[in-house]
Amino acid sequence: MSHIAYVNGRYVPLRKAQVHVEDRGFQFADGVYEVFPVYAGRIVNQDWHMQRLAQSLQGLRMGWPLAPGVLNMILPEMLRRNGVTNGGMIYLQITRGVSPRNHAFPGGKVKPTLVIMARAVNMAARHAQAETGVRVITVPENRWPRRDIKSVSLLPNMLAKQQAAEQGASEALYVNDRGIVTEGASSTFWIVRPDGVLMTHPLGHDILPGVTRRVVLEIAREKGLKVEEREFTLAEAVKAREAFLTSATNFVMPVTQIDGQILGNGAPGDLSLSLRRAYIERIE
Ligand code: PLP
Repeated sequence: MSHIAYVNGRYVPLRKAQVHVEDRGFQFADGVYEVFPVYAGRIVNQDWHMQRLAQSLQGLRMGWPLAPGVLNMILPEMLRRNGVTNGGMIYLQITRGVSPRNHAFPGGKVKPTLVIMARAVNMAARHAQAETGVRVITVPENRWPRRDIKSVSLLPNMLAKQQAAEQGASEALYVNDRGIVTEGASSTFWIVRPDGVLMTHPLGHDILPGVTRRVVLEIAREKGLKVEEREFTLAEAVKAREAFLTSATNFVMPVTQIDGQILGNGAPGDLSLSLRRAYIERIE
């Protein structure tokens, strides 16, 4: 099936989908994005992702290209047109629009650019990866101070992921100048302390408010687990009993090594796997 993109009001074949060279997203990374996970052919946590998109737009003082209600109808239509009937994802990007290059916001009424794409994700491969767990590396936190905005300005994230890939790891964790692990380059990071307490970095400007994080916190509290949204250091992380990542497309992904140091017995932790199962049950 050919892939269909949505660009500024039109459904077009992906190979013909185009954005203007003076788009501010292209010239300044002046835009925001969202990734909507799709499971069993349905969009997961759609309202939370729309809510975060609203916050990102507000964070950059950008307007909606379309009423959110209309966007909500285009998303399932994109699944239909792209034949995404099982696992997958929808990528949505909004930029401040097209205007002659000038750093400050363009004056007058410039229409934001809206691009949406949808594609299938091989869920069986993700499930298999969760059985063995993944390795991560650490990198110095070098991003701008507003990590809560899901901006398309991802140069540090992209370079961190490349470094991870070159070292045979799946993710890079950011460690700030106080030794605190903030999050992954494209995921939220969690540990299970030796005393069984589940920990993840608190919300604020330092991390993206992960939608999966929100749902996993809810599940953990319902299960009666001890949870702390509190800063922890890399030294604490390497001594953890278990660790895992969460993200829209990976759900809950066990971590077995940090910078080559093996966590626990080197296999995915029981709590990580049970949270993964509970998360999947919830989205089903
Ligand atoms: N942190 C960063 C920097 C991310 O890019 C992502 C997802 O892409 C996350 C955390 C996880 O967020 P979510 O669970 O909403 O996918």
